Amino acid sequence: MRREKLKPDYKDMSWMIFQQEFKKEDDCYKWLFKTRWPNGFICPKCEGEKFWWISTQKLYKCANCNYRVSITAGTIFHKTRTSLMKWFMLIYRMSTSKTGVSINEMKRELEIKDYKTVWTMAHKIRKAMADRDAKYNLAGLVETDESFFGTSKPGNRGRGAEGKRIVLIAISIWKDKSGKERPGFAKAFIIKDASAETIKEVLIRTGVADNEIELLIKKIRTDGWRSYETVSNDLNIGHYRVILKDPKDTIKLLPWTHRLIGNAKAVFSGPHRGISPKHLQRYLSEVCYRFNRRFWGREAFHRLLFACSTTNTITRDELMEKYKVS
Ligand SMILES: [Zn+2]
Repeated sequence: MRREKLKPDYKDMSWMIFQQEFKKEDDCYKWLFKTRWPNGFICPKCEGEKFWWISTQKLYKCANCNYRVSITAGTIFHKTRTSLMKWFMLIYRMSTSKTGVSINEMKRELEIKDYKTVWTMAHKIRKAMADRDAKYNLAGLVETDESFFGTSKPGNRGRGAEGKRIVLIAISIWKDKSGKERPGFAKAFIIKDASAETIKEVLIRTGVADNEIELLIKKIRTDGWRSYETVSNDLNIGHYRVILKDPKDTIKLLPWTHRLIGNAKAVFSGPHRGISPKHLQRYLSEVCYRFNRRFWGREAFHRLLFACSTTNTITRDELMEKYKVS
């Protein structure tokens, strides 16, 4: 399907402005239309520019060849039975909340009876967050560490503790003008184990741009776990290992990965308490998405709405499938 090049025009949006811009269902459809066809309708089949709007089916019909285009195709809203107003409100709340929204609370506020409906919507939005972040690569110096999430049973780091999921956290680090370290892009993935092979695979996947072969990651900073030494040798990248005299030192010596782990643990002990390991990856994606956009303030809603409007949806059945770990 042909699409025009999308040029996002992100705007600041407070709750006040949101309520003015999106008063009714039609306003949401107009927004989607403008995002999809910034220069006016173009038929994907014949490139005709005249169309009919079939409001009962939310379809555009090409006036030239009669081809029907769903306005929600290629968005997370495709085939939804929930009003776009409710979707947009949920996106607003998820984009502006610091720690994530409670499904029960949103169920009440959006006046949706079924918990599952709101839960599924939230996971579709998380999928859009993950898809958006997948477009960005890690580069330069990357601080990386693992952490355990889930119900606890002590286990071995190399093989993974039982009942818990090992999560690899990796964050690009850059220096500002005054030479001060700043965290750049962050990623977090559930991994099956902390072996060199697994870590290498994740770093290659996140550190090589599309259609390129060169690894953008030049150096890793770690606690010196043996896998990382192998990884740095195999990938021919630098390795800065911090010396931990006390486990508490990790917060000082690997500050950025530990800040992200802290964010995630706060979320998982708050609004998303007791999440199933099956869905953990999407919650991690949400934490990273938020971390990666912490300075974008009131553009947050527009950016997330754009992400949701430019990626394919996921069905409830697909959401319930077992997550394949890296
Ligand atoms: Zn046409």
